Amino acid sequence: QKTEIGVIGLAVMGRSIALNMADHGFKVGGYNRSGKVTDEMVKEYPHENFVPFYDMKSLVASQERPRRFLIMVKAGNPVDMVIEQLASLLDEGDMILDGGNSYFEDTRRREKSLKAQGIYYFGTGVSGGEHGARFGPSIMPGGDESAYRHIAPVLEAIAAKAKGEPCCAYMGPDGAGHYVKMVHNGIEYADMQLIAEAYLLLKYAGGYTNEELADIFEAWNEGELKSYLIEITARILREADDYAQGELLDHILDSAGQKGTGRWTSLESLRQGVNVSMITAACNARIMSNRIEERKAAQSLINGSPNRPAVDKGAFADKVRKGLYTAKIVAYAQGFDLLRHASAEYGWDLNYGRIAAIFRAGCIIQAQFLDEITKAFDKDSELSNLMLDSYFLEGINQGKESLQNILCLGIQNGIPLPAMSQAEAYIDASRGMPVGANLIQAQRDCFGAHTYERTDREGIFHHDWGQDNE
Ligand code: NDP
Repeated sequence: QKTEIGVIGLAVMGRSIALNMADHGFKVGGYNRSGKVTDEMVKEYPHENFVPFYDMKSLVASQERPRRFLIMVKAGNPVDMVIEQLASLLDEGDMILDGGNSYFEDTRRREKSLKAQGIYYFGTGVSGGEHGARFGPSIMPGGDESAYRHIAPVLEAIAAKAKGEPCCAYMGPDGAGHYVKMVHNGIEYADMQLIAEAYLLLKYAGGYTNEELADIFEAWNEGELKSYLIEITARILREADDYAQGELLDHILDSAGQKGTGRWTSLESLRQGVNVSMITAACNARIMSNRIEERKAAQSLINGSPNRPAVDKGAFADKVRKGLYTAKIVAYAQGFDLLRHASAEYGWDLNYGRIAAIFRAGCIIQAQFLDEITKAFDKDSELSNLMLDSYFLEGINQGKESLQNILCLGIQNGIPLPAMSQAEAYIDASRGMPVGANLIQAQRDCFGAHTYERTDREGIFHHDWGQDNE
């Protein structure tokens, strides 16, 4: 049978995206290394537009040129193995898309080597989990711009729609799509951590019940914080437990895993010399969460905090909302700052407004305020810091005091608030407050003759500090 596109890898994501394409009228050929998985898919999810294949050669033969394939296998070496097999069967002008969470440097390497064979390779970030893949993800393709038109009709048809526009757009050359996906995931880490910190504050400093908390998050979802993550948080807080009394959330272990995309973002930011402290804080928070035994053992050793100050519950929830919103602006400002530096470093010419626009639906960080990010970059495509756009500046200036208040209260109560603390530190460092680097320059000059610069005259200076450590 003839097909129009091939999907290789039919686990949760590949299967869902193949069915999504089939729903949109594309004849899809599917192949999975273990044929059993293909059989199960055909049995459980039969679709008139889906054709199963049990060897790659027949899948390739089922398409007219230029052929199109989407690889949806485990990131890392499996992608290279599939490419090696597939590319040997392809002709010049054919296209391979990698829709997994591949590391952008791998994508750059693969794109370069396939280009030499005349094959177009698109590192394609896909966000939205299983549900997104099945009914409309946010899609971030990067690769050869002239070849993008061959894959655009499929990707744009299956993508989520925000105000009628597809949440899919060409990101830039080689690794740009996977890079944007990586930073998206980094922002997602920070966003989730901030919501967790707001929850901790409300629960342990505010004394709210889960039901009250659910009402608060529901109300927040009507305003400037409106987003998928806030919406599911309200739902989670109401969920009853199947095994014990009360809500499920209270019975879930206080330890969260990570697959690595947040860590990649953090490591990459150091390489670029960009401060994404909130993403790093979110990674560290998960690392600390995993130390369950050590945390338990230290509980009776490290002094706790003095008594909890009484709070006016109504006013407190409002302060947490404002503080959370302020910190959220900082998290996005940091993420987009990293994109800006990467764009220059790798020569990608990223369009930040377009990136924010495709995050508006389908993906995990979908949120109302992404519209405002698009507007900010439409006004000034080279905006150096999102916090300085007039809309976000107002948010920062209106919410900063609340952020400081809730941080003080949280710290007095011994509640760890790493991401919110980083937001406050970033704002203060950004507004020209001294950061102590004069002393650091002096120390470096004192112990290592690294020289220093002055505020009142040009040039490089060295001072004889009269060291006694020679
Ligand atoms: P997995 O990451 O669990 O990978 C399983 C698939 O990879 C199977 O089809 C498996 O085939 C195939 N595979 C593994 N090793 C090889 C190999 N050496 N050669 C050929 N095929 C191989 O699947 P998911 O569907 O969860 O994810 C696919 C990709 O999408 C991953 O990169 C993931 O990070 C990314 N992603 C996942 C999201 C999610 O919510 N799950 C969200 C967004 C992106 P076999 O059955 O033969 O073992």
